[in-house]
Amino acid sequence: MSSIDSIESQSHSDALQGELARWLDANAEALDIEQSRAGEVLLRLARAEIFGIGVPLALGGGGGSIADAIGAVAQVAQRSVTAAFVLWGHRTFIEYLLNSSNTALRDRWLPALLTGELAGATGLSNAMKFLSNIESLQMHAVREASGWTLNGSLPWITNLRREGFLAAAAFDHAGAAPPSIFAIPSDTEGAHRSDDLDLIGLRASNTAALTLKDAVLDEQYQISADAPAFLARVRPAFLGLQCGLSLGLARRALAAVAEAGDGTRATIKSEAARIEATLDAETDQLMTGVSDASFLQRPASLFELRISLAQTVSAAVGLEVQAAGGRGYLRQQAGTARRVREASFIPIVTPSLVQLKSQLALHERTVAQ
Ligand SMILES: Cc1cc2nc3c(=O)[nH]c(=O)nc-3n(C[C@H](O)[C@H](O)[C@H](O)COP(=O)(O)OP(=O)(O)OC[C@H]3O[C@@H](n4cnc5c(N)ncnc54)[C@H](O)[C@@H]3O)c2cc1C
Repeated sequence: MSSIDSIESQSHSDALQGELARWLDANAEALDIEQSRAGEVLLRLARAEIFGIGVPLALGGGGGSIADAIGAVAQVAQRSVTAAFVLWGHRTFIEYLLNSSNTALRDRWLPALLTGELAGATGLSNAMKFLSNIESLQMHAVREASGWTLNGSLPWITNLRREGFLAAAAFDHAGAAPPSIFAIPSDTEGAHRSDDLDLIGLRASNTAALTLKDAVLDEQYQISADAPAFLARVRPAFLGLQCGLSLGLARRALAAVAEAGDGTRATIKSEAARIEATLDAETDQLMTGVSDASFLQRPASLFELRISLAQTVSAAVGLEVQAAGGRGYLRQQAGTARRVREASFIPIVTPSLVQLKSQLALHERTVAQ
């Protein structure tokens, strides 16, 4: 990283200590259990210039690296996993544009994504599950003279902001052509966003289903003509940014443990220290792996890390519940209960823990042959 980049990304993380941090602290509960602030989250994050972290200065970003962007997700997740997951979807979409050979697509949309004027959403769970032979692609593209006719639906996509979004989805094609990935603007004729899903948490995340009925898009909107190769390339960033959720949530739960009364703290001190040491080691491993490209060569090590981080979150939040005692069950002490709900999201977001475990088992069988 250049010194200018380093200074820039430092100033961005400082911004999180100010206005955004205060807003997240004041609204974390509402963001989790209500939809009323769904329109505000992206704008608050944008105001702190958080979307440009890890985006080259030459492209209008703030400079720095993907590790800095993961650090930003972690900082937001310490305060609100709803806001951090919105950041994940939006920043991951930006990463797709940065990795796309369609530079016209990037140049056209990146400025509005960086300012939060437009929401970026990633509907690629289906594609990830398809690549792991778990389910077939639910979106289909048919080549026409003027582009492609697109049909299908995706049941879960976060950051489908009602005010306007671009959503990434993978499509299969007839014949031998590999699946491709398109960016679908919300005002595409034939695109329909459902009402928000009736979630138990993360309710201000603009999570809804997206259906396409004879929507037509041309190559201007194609992120990649080869989804498997593209997804393999962006997977370290996709998963790394997702791991930022775990880093932040576990860190915050341990901070809550440290706020417990003297007697409680003394009793669980060694347990807290053990979880903290594990979290420190996992943080180092994550930042090193995304920076030196080793996760590209050995995806299994990133899968293992995502699983172990989910276990660390579970241990940290479980210890917070013990440390908080009855106070954690009172509504005015809602942070503990919220973190329990937030933690239950970590294992299910794609690639889910079940999926990763099955991929690792397959990998081990292949290596053993
Ligand atoms: C709040 C919220 C927001 C979300 N936002 C997004 C988003 O922005 N973008 C997006 O693309 N998705 C999103 N999702 C979807 C999410 O990433 C997962 O895909 C989804 O929760 C898990 O899929 P499922 O319920 O359809 O699992 P199911 O298909 O019902 O499977 C259950 C579990 O078993 C695993 N599994 C199933 N079959 C196999 C198999 N053969 N081998 C190994 N493992 C298997 C699955 O991975 C899953 O863990 C969101 C989900 C939630 C709850």
